[in-house]
Amino acid sequence: MSDLIQTISVPVDPPYEALIGPGLLHSCGARIAQALGGACRAAVVTDSAVAPLYLSAVESSLADVGFSVCSHVFKAGEGSKNLVTLSALLEFLAEERLTRTDCVIALGGGVCGDMAGFAAGVYLRGIRCVQLPTTLLAAVDSSVGGKTAVDLRAGKNLAGVFLQPSAVLCDTRCLATLPPAALADGAAAAIKTGVLSGEELFGLWEHGDPLAQPEEMIARCVAHKAAVVAADPFDTGVRRTLNLGHTAGHAIETCSGYAVSHGHAVAAGLAIIARASARLGWSEAALPARIEAVLRRSDLPITSAFSARELAEAALADKKRTGGDITLVIPEAVGRCTLKKLPVTQLSAVFAAGLEG
Ligand code: NAD
Repeated sequence: MSDLIQTISVPVDPPYEALIGPGLLHSCGARIAQALGGACRAAVVTDSAVAPLYLSAVESSLADVGFSVCSHVFKAGEGSKNLVTLSALLEFLAEERLTRTDCVIALGGGVCGDMAGFAAGVYLRGIRCVQLPTTLLAAVDSSVGGKTAVDLRAGKNLAGVFLQPSAVLCDTRCLATLPPAALADGAAAAIKTGVLSGEELFGLWEHGDPLAQPEEMIARCVAHKAAVVAADPFDTGVRRTLNLGHTAGHAIETCSGYAVSHGHAVAAGLAIIARASARLGWSEAALPARIEAVLRRSDLPITSAFSARELAEAALADKKRTGGDITLVIPEAVGRCTLKKLPVTQLSAVFAAGLEG
């Protein structure tokens, strides 16, 4: 079984490892103790859908190797990724008297990882955090890289901190209990990474069945993200390419009041920016059709019912705007994406070009 476990090093300061393979939750205690240099008090943070499935296995594995464990469960869903839930979580950590040498363990999808990571980053000005991703989206994207956030009324992810995890353990058996729509959300994030990283990963989605044995595909996504994060840990340069599809995607999420999930919104955002870039002469003419075909194979949307103007208004409340400009990630070809700064007044026209059928 251990042959199936892939290890990706994330060479930030301090470096850490992401392990990907079947059955990792059942041995997580020993692996976490190794990563942290010993057992400590551990607060496992999870949501109401994940807790009945996996919490007791994680608690037992931690207790078996000497961790003193407490657990906090919040209501599942993006609607919980806010300051109210964060506040309750911070109060929990304080009531449980976690100290600077203790750790928070995020067991769940991207919402849980973002919430628990944020709490660990600000509690006592920062304690250690371990990510145990249980969705495909968290496995291929959000559990690695140390970005954490909650949503504010004005938009997605507007408050957060950088806190690199001490370790990431991705048990691929967790994917078996994911509803199909949640699996598709993760496919969207992986396809986005494929467009960024190149033909090898994109080809897995275009011609193969990457979920049949997901370890290789997840490892490729994590390796791409690890390299980009190592080059730009604080998101001031090349790391911003990871936001491919996110300008329209976040706008779709905001306009829908988060009824459209993050992954589905990013899929539509990716198709929209690909079509817009081709129409505006910034990218290969054949690229949008390739991206659309791959998204469709995973039952993902390739457009949005919101108008270009509605999306532009929502996007301009977004944090990536600086002054009168907005930076977009342009997919020029598979494996070649660039940052392009545009006056905010042009955004609606770009979205309009991408929304045309
Ligand atoms: P999620 O965490 O809400 O999980 C989706 C649903 O699946 C939830 O209801 C959850 O309870 C359930 N679930 C989780 N694991 C399960 C399992 N194994 N079996 C059955 N059900 C399970 O959503 P997500 O798609 O994982 O993450 C989306 C979030 O991630 C967004 O808030 C997005 O902004 C964030 N994100 C963060 C980063 C980052 O770098 N920090 C990157 C990408 C996305």
